[in-house]
Amino acid sequence: PCSPMRNYLKGLNENQYLAATHMNGPLMIVAGAGSGKTKVLTTRIAHLMAEGVDAFNILALTFTNKAAAEMKERIEHMLGNNEARNLYIGTFHSVFARILRGEAHRLGYPNSFTIYDTDDSRTVIKQVLKEMQLDDKHYKPNTVHSRISQAKNALVGPLEYAQDYYIQQEDMRANKPALAKIYKAYCDRCFKNGAMDFDDLLLKMYELLNTFPEVLHKYQKKFKYILIDEYQDTNPVQYQITKLLAAMYENICVVGDDAQSIYSFRGATIENILQFQKDYDDVQVIKLEQNYRSTRNIISVANSVIQKNIGQIPKQLWTENNDGEKIKLVRTLTDNDEAKFVSNTIQEERLRNHFNNKDFAILYRTNAQSRAFEENLRRMGIPYRIYGGLSFYQRKEIKDFIAYLRVTVNPADEVALERIINYPVRGIGKTTIEKLQTQASNNKTTVWEILQRAGEFGFRAGTLDAINNFVVMIKYFQSLLEDKSAYDVAMQIGKHTNLVKELFSDKTQEGLQRYENIQELLNSIKEWVDTQQDLSQIDEEGTVLEEVDTEIAKNATSLAAYLQQITLLTDADEKDKDGTGDMVKLMTIHAAKGLEFPVVFVGGVEESIFPSGLSINTREELEEERRLFYVAVTRAKQKLWLSYANTRYRFGNIINNEPSRFISEMPDEFIDRSYAGGNSSNFAGNAFERMNRSGFGGYNNATQAEKRYGPPPKKNVLPTQAPKANKIVEHRPSADFVPSDTSTLQEGHKVEHAKFGFGTVQKMEGAAHNRIATVMFENNGEKKIMLNYAKLRII
Ligand code: ATP
Ligand code: MG
Repeated sequence: PCSPMRNYLKGLNENQYLAATHMNGPLMIVAGAGSGKTKVLTTRIAHLMAEGVDAFNILALTFTNKAAAEMKERIEHMLGNNEARNLYIGTFHSVFARILRGEAHRLGYPNSFTIYDTDDSRTVIKQVLKEMQLDDKHYKPNTVHSRISQAKNALVGPLEYAQDYYIQQEDMRANKPALAKIYKAYCDRCFKNGAMDFDDLLLKMYELLNTFPEVLHKYQKKFKYILIDEYQDTNPVQYQITKLLAAMYENICVVGDDAQSIYSFRGATIENILQFQKDYDDVQVIKLEQNYRSTRNIISVANSVIQKNIGQIPKQLWTENNDGEKIKLVRTLTDNDEAKFVSNTIQEERLRNHFNNKDFAILYRTNAQSRAFEENLRRMGIPYRIYGGLSFYQRKEIKDFIAYLRVTVNPADEVALERIINYPVRGIGKTTIEKLQTQASNNKTTVWEILQRAGEFGFRAGTLDAINNFVVMIKYFQSLLEDKSAYDVAMQIGKHTNLVKELFSDKTQEGLQRYENIQELLNSIKEWVDTQQDLSQIDEEGTVLEEVDTEIAKNATSLAAYLQQITLLTDADEKDKDGTGDMVKLMTIHAAKGLEFPVVFVGGVEESIFPSGLSINTREELEEERRLFYVAVTRAKQKLWLSYANTRYRFGNIINNEPSRFISEMPDEFIDRSYAGGNSSNFAGNAFERMNRSGFGGYNNATQAEKRYGPPPKKNVLPTQAPKANKIVEHRPSADFVPSDTSTLQEGHKVEHAKFGFGTVQKMEGAAHNRIATVMFENNGEKKIMLNYAKLRII
């Protein structure tokens, strides 16, 4: 098919062009890192649309939701319109969750089903173990959960699990004969709770398509074109679902790199790439080998290392980019020195070579490695952002608040219900809760049902009162769902549960932090609702949306939609909370897949860390670690630093590690070993000595750096994870401090806050009793204050 040259196609190389303009029939692009796979996929979507394919008929599956958002933006830019918002684009989980919202009732779930995250799943497992009187020290909830997850992703249901001879043998050998029963009980319980776990979003989607031909037909017809990025990391369920969906038109395009397959522990399998060619015999396969991302030195190192793997599709990456600097190998005495070195180098590179903070990424094998980096960045006043780890949404106060939101949407959700039924304390104690649970299980119903009929079960008068009040309150919240946005409902919940008041009255540093976190949550809900409102407006041209979509557009700002979105955020999705976003990025290598940064530091390149000590027992495991190393190296555009420490703290002990075997797999000619003590293995010094000797900006602390370059730019950006963990300068309220009526508060007013001190109102938002004032405090910086709860005095 010969298309006219369109602007967005300019600059593509021959194979990229072929792939981007391919219209019908199966297409597979197998290509190395940085060769433009994602770019081609994005361009191809734009091209399909330019050729007249309706965006509603395109399904695109990405590795993170952020990647999806970026793709949409690029497509809008390429086409000069905003049709891209009508694409079905996102992670497998988010796209399927969206579809299940409209279809789950067919499988016996409420359409407003709750999504359980890993933490919730473990809670359910604990409940199940307790009921089955099994020891959770032997049946560790973590292990049980990953076993169940594995089974689900391999499409093995509880029944098949119990009947499979080999699985049973394996469980017997592990002395865990009850796993099949636990698996079954776990599924039953989630079902009863009206909840799906992450794996269910895939599994139930598969069941749906397999059980209801009319549903399958509907989505086959809808998704005329299917595109999948990072195909090497799909698992069997994902494979089967997309195969089903594509069966009518076979317009399916997959893009991947077998050398970057790093999720086998989640059941992903490279076999999918090989199988794809067997499933579609008229498949067109396109290879891309030119790398546009990295310097020649970086590519050379990546190529040499990955060639040590036996199992791979042969391809040679090359680039027209210049050689760039050699890859710098850094050896330090301790992990803290390593982190200090990295922070110093960031400071220096920034000052000398005009990089911004956001140009740097620090990558590591395990989350635990982030602490030392964090401490040193903070000490140097370098703003940074951690992706993954204990995220904002995992904090207790946030989970508590969200549990209220969840119970409101789905009162059958017992994990959430148990969390809040007596928080804040309202006289529904442990014994009462146990009694409620027993009654629910005796009557084969939910705890929520029992709560509503509590009068029938002989509770004491006081307890009964407490229960009734709770039920009335939740029902009130539910009554708001019909026509209120997620934000309005959340505000009402904050107000009526006393949750916010309780946190506000806790005057400790942690209490204040928790209070601020809740405010931050409310702000983020507001922001989300505003964006959704913009997005959900129907096309100005009056384009009539398809049936499923109209429904979704109407519910776009609902609490259920909000809950779904936050539960499905992936590690890499957490957004920059700080306006400027000019922050150093820290993340695991797994979370960095598909991303690129001008300067990359890879920390802890040591035996037992990278490769991980847990993954060197078989060749397969070691090869996956090597692919992970390949992913790490190929994230860098211009500069790459690999560091290792002689000693580091791990699990409270000091350990000594050898440099990683991957280091010895890199040819000398591309490596600068002078920060690692040159080529002599006896060299006892560390990277700092090298820096000092060479006069190459060596310094051990910020003060010396300042002497050389002047003080670092003073920024009011606090280098911590959102929300900020600022140190509050405690204010002693004036003697005549009485909170005033703030209904007349306006921009420019001077105020005194009981805790933050004096400040000036910058901005007013929100209506009636939901008003929020942005105040710039003299000693505590800018804060958003909810007037409803604030102790504020107008001066
Ligand atoms: P990964 O394997 O890491 O996911 P990828 O193959 O998806 O990488 P992209 O992220 O699409 O690669 O592209 C890598 C970089 O190269 C991007 O910055 C992209 O804009 C650029 N690039 C790709 N193709 C071209 C081209 N033809 N001309 C100029 N730049 C290009
Ligand atoms: Mg990519």
